[in-house]
Amino acid sequence: MGSKIISGITSDKSVRIYVVDTTSMVEEARMIHRATPVSTAALGRVISATSLMGRMLKGDKESLTVQVKGSGEIKSIMGVGNADGNVKAYISNPDVVRPANAQGKIDVGGAVGQGHLIVIKDMGLKEPFIGRCELVSGEIAEDLAAYYMQSEQQPSVVSLGVLMDPEVGGVVASGGIIIQPLPFAEDEVIDKIERSVMGLPAISTLISEGKSVEEIASIALKEFEVEIISEKTVELYCDCSRDRVEKALISLGTTELTEMLETDGHAELSCHFCNKKYQFDEGNLNNLIAGLDGK
Ligand code: ZN
Repeated sequence: MGSKIISGITSDKSVRIYVVDTTSMVEEARMIHRATPVSTAALGRVISATSLMGRMLKGDKESLTVQVKGSGEIKSIMGVGNADGNVKAYISNPDVVRPANAQGKIDVGGAVGQGHLIVIKDMGLKEPFIGRCELVSGEIAEDLAAYYMQSEQQPSVVSLGVLMDPEVGGVVASGGIIIQPLPFAEDEVIDKIERSVMGLPAISTLISEGKSVEEIASIALKEFEVEIISEKTVELYCDCSRDRVEKALISLGTTELTEMLETDGHAELSCHFCNKKYQFDEGNLNNLIAGLDGK
């Protein structure tokens, strides 16, 4: 089944909610990056966060990058999304193995460590918006809620989760929720949100029980009535091309390219996001060098 995202608003127009089921996207990412359960769980949470935040962008031309940089073994995770909610994602260390944490859960916080959450929003203006906040726990959902509060002064409830199959190592369920009161919401609305989410099961549990994203929106805001505004399928994507890879090669400069040619006689570059491999043989490299020399 494909991944799906919805947005909704409460009937009193005081709270908005976004819910995404990224199970198929995260399983695909797990296979592309050959990621271990803990690396997959961390990557999956970033994929869900990026999809939700991408969907909150206003224009079609806007895009966003969510980066988690930590002192732990994972080092860094990156999600790039657009207003469609589609995501491309990268993890620098997909091989992390860690014992479960004190609660018996996959130890994402330990694998991420201390560091920063960085959000870059490209809204088609000259300068992108860059928000940065210190990681609270490395569990990503808490970190994202802290980011919203500190960088955008926006109170938010964020839930992100990935459920892995302990035997096969595959993704059983993955998804995320973001709940935000609209500006100028009364304290009463905040209290009502808090009462709603109290005791809310993990999003991955709800998905694994077969709940739809629409049902999850109603469960998460049980004290309100939720109207669904939009729904769409979302997917993992990549926009790499031979042309882009070639530009990256050219940017290395004549010396480096010549060295590559002399040492290996060819070059193989793979895309960090989708792992697609691009081959450049002797002739290709010679042409690139000739092009540089001609400038
Ligand atoms: Zn790619």
